[in-house]
Amino acid sequence: MTKELICICCPQGCRLTVSDESGELTVTGYTCKRGIEYGKTEATAPTRVITTTVAVTGSSWCRLPVKTAGGVPKSKIFDCMDAINQVTVQAPVHTGDVVLSNILETGVDVVAARTIE
Ligand code: SF4
Repeated sequence: MTKELICICCPQGCRLTVSDESGELTVTGYTCKRGIEYGKTEATAPTRVITTTVAVTGSSWCRLPVKTAGGVPKSKIFDCMDAINQVTVQAPVHTGDVVLSNILETGVDVVAARTIE
């Protein structure tokens, strides 16, 4: 298997080639080590960070920006969105507060991306 990918970890967008033809997963085309990790993960178990909003009460703001604290399996993104859409938080809430723990047993928390007093 050989895959051509563009690393999305930074705006440079290095063109990666991931191959297992030597019997070991190898990545070429990267400029920094993040590209190696991204290429291997994308080829074997792709993940994505979700950024979205949830409802908030007790504030003049009606939505709170949130994100997953790490990548969740790409195959679970829509199920994660369904779970996140069920969440309502009560202000005050602070950047980094966990608003949904261990979403869908992925080991990843959903956290507030800003403070709302
Ligand atoms: S390999 Fe490094 S420099 Fe290239 S896009 Fe990925 S993060 Fe950016």
